Amino acid sequence: MIKVVATIVELKEELGYYRNNGKSIGFVPTMGALHQGHISLVERCRAENDVTVVSIFVNPTQFNDKNDLKNYPRMPEKDVALLEQAGANIVFVPDEKEIYPEPDTRVFDFGMLDKVMEGKFRPGHFNGVAQVVSKLFDIVNPHRAYFGLKDYQQLAIIRAMVKMLGYGVEVIGCPIVRETDGLAMSSRNLLLSAEHRKSAPLIYRTLSEARNKKGEFSVKELIAWVESRINSDPNLRVEYFELADADTLEPVESWEHQNGIVGCIAVWAGNIRLIDNTMFKE
Ligand code: AMP
Repeated sequence: MIKVVATIVELKEELGYYRNNGKSIGFVPTMGALHQGHISLVERCRAENDVTVVSIFVNPTQFNDKNDLKNYPRMPEKDVALLEQAGANIVFVPDEKEIYPEPDTRVFDFGMLDKVMEGKFRPGHFNGVAQVVSKLFDIVNPHRAYFGLKDYQQLAIIRAMVKMLGYGVEVIGCPIVRETDGLAMSSRNLLLSAEHRKSAPLIYRTLSEARNKKGEFSVKELIAWVESRINSDPNLRVEYFELADADTLEPVESWEHQNGIVGCIAVWAGNIRLIDNTMFKE
């Protein structure tokens, strides 16, 4: 039976029991409105740990857009049922006061990592992510924590934060789970109109085609090709498409780049913003 806890005191008590018995604790932080992408993290966590803790918390400090925060889908009962079915042991559902009894004024410096792409278009977003994840790590103190590659830049930020703050948490990145038409699963997909939902698979279709065009186009030309192909659908508007170093996330100039290359994209579908990414060079 899954245990639903809302307070830090209760969660620590639950986890203390496992810790004292030498059990490994795995952690999956989420904002709820769960889908198969989240469940894949839970399954991996279960396979690698004795106890699986999932948090559901729509973190206000990472929303740079008030309407996005207000409209973010919330369905706690359904989420708990899904987690129970997936075999999670504990779900932590704190309210805002529990996580932020006082405003969190910490400012993190991630250098270039949070200046590019999402960092550029969503100012303050990654600072909020670092605030909440560090608080959750302090509370849960897991052995391992699971994050999706769907949020590629977020994973890089979390790894940097773990190094910076000296957490003894092993951070594990998990593959992107997609709908059958290729669209990356996201809680925000629920907010798409029928028409925008129909257009959205063009994003990943284009990224996949672009991967095969490396021989034909320079980096610059390929960026322009991806943007114009997606923008040719009147329901979609590319905010950015970058080909970036897989570790530093700085833009790359050529295919001869000495490290992995990741292609990251953000696209507006009506007033819903979707992100996706894929590797262009391992
Ligand atoms: P969120 O609830 O959107 O904050 O996501 C919680 C975790 O699930 C993050 O680590 C995400 O990267 C991960 N995640 C979200 N969507 C997917 C997906 N389609 N495939 C894999 N992981 C995902």
